[in-house]
Amino acid sequence: MGGEWISSSRALPNINPSDTNDVIGEFAEADAALALSAIQAARQAFREWSRSSPQQRFDVLDAAGAALLARKDELGQLLAREEGKIPAEAIGEVTRAGQIFKFFAAEALRVGGEIVPSVRPGMSVEVTREPVGVIGLITPWNFPIAIPAWKIAPALAYGNTVVLKPAEMVPACAWEIAKILEQAGLPAGVFNLVMGKGSVVGEALVSSADVDAISFTGSVSTGRAIGARCFASGKKFQLEMGGKNPMVILDDADLDNAIAVTLNGSFFSTGQRCTASSRLIVTAGIYDKFTEGLLAQMQALRVGHALDATTQMGPVVDERQLAQNQKYLQIARDEGAQVVGGELLKLRSPGFYMAPALALDTENAMRINREEVFGPVASVVRAKDYGEALALANDTDFGLSAGICTTSLKYATHFKRNVEAGMVMINAPTAGVDYHVPFGGRKGSSFGPREQGTYAREFYTSVKTTYINPL
Ligand code: NDP
Repeated sequence: MGGEWISSSRALPNINPSDTNDVIGEFAEADAALALSAIQAARQAFREWSRSSPQQRFDVLDAAGAALLARKDELGQLLAREEGKIPAEAIGEVTRAGQIFKFFAAEALRVGGEIVPSVRPGMSVEVTREPVGVIGLITPWNFPIAIPAWKIAPALAYGNTVVLKPAEMVPACAWEIAKILEQAGLPAGVFNLVMGKGSVVGEALVSSADVDAISFTGSVSTGRAIGARCFASGKKFQLEMGGKNPMVILDDADLDNAIAVTLNGSFFSTGQRCTASSRLIVTAGIYDKFTEGLLAQMQALRVGHALDATTQMGPVVDERQLAQNQKYLQIARDEGAQVVGGELLKLRSPGFYMAPALALDTENAMRINREEVFGPVASVVRAKDYGEALALANDTDFGLSAGICTTSLKYATHFKRNVEAGMVMINAPTAGVDYHVPFGGRKGSSFGPREQGTYAREFYTSVKTTYINPL
């Protein structure tokens, strides 16, 4: 923080979820006082950075993006070791983070304004954008490089300074991002990393009057509590929370594609994606063929150590999440669903392993279809036709991503217009998005302006309207 690496009196071991004997390192755990020092460093650096030239911001962000891309294999291995996704997915995530930094490097050059003729004779009006100030970023464990990247890069591009509090479970990736930004030439204090508990460091960010805005990604309960605190103190805030994303499979779907996109959307990255396909809504004519095909491919997925070359699905992130997944499978059974898979697995290395699971014969009202599980667990709901499938897709408190598999232009077009979600996927997995277009949802999934792409400027800038009377 403030351009220095500061150790704390407490440190926490960072454990590999594929092998609990593998300790990646001991990482500092900050207290509230350290968090406040980081906020002060960001506040002091704001004056100069907010007036820095677009070229300086471009150069730093472009260099950071280039470093991430050059080191994607090495950082991908670290990410896989720390979070448990397989290297192909982890390297993809680092690549995406590098591309995000490069995209926002160029955005720093594009912050323009408007000159508008006034309705009053002789006057003119200018609409310009300014940085917001000190931004507190609170991020989850499931995308330990990409989510910090898609918050840090726009924050810095538009002239804000940052304090990042990453999830406690993934400090190593955050540490690497901080080093990359330092090596890219970012002035001291512009970016500050504070590792520690949400209830201590996150709390300090949310309650400090020196933090102007909070961008949060994580669970609904934490997000809502943070949002209420920000509202009460007049802070700008943005929340990305959970999903219960529907994937609708219609009778006329291309069966092989429907199975492939569902397998990907439900189980890749161990299902630990807020955009995962967790509710599969299948019409009657294709139900048997689809579930039979999906079950066969799901059961053939090789679960194992994330760094084992043959592994297709890595472990669950930790013991608590594993217990949560198992709890929801039991809830589904108790509510009358037939659960296939989901067994706890004992493999060569001690880790948090379970088989992917599908809950069949479920009703949309069951808890397994109402609440986010956040693991390799999907459930299937039968619909009699497209109309019922759409109604079921929309019958949820969430609205992040929604997919449909169909060869009908009529149904695809109607679904796109009528499904209540921020992102719609046609014959494609509900998870897996581009980095240059808006990301976000509706209803209980998101609050505030969209993240990513040019839309990110709505959160990371403040609009000023100036009236000029030339006299
Ligand atoms: P949380 O919402 O608990 O944590 C997200 C971030 O918020 C972490 O950095 C966390 O810190 C921090 N935090 C926690 N409490 C506070 C607080 N009082 N004030 C400020 N910051 C706080 O989610 P988890 O990562 O623990 O995951 C729990 C569940 O959330 C998952 O099972 C899943 O359902 C959902 N989730 C959803 C995601 C999404 O993208 N929609 C992403 C990740 C999780 P700390 O490190 O101490 O926990």
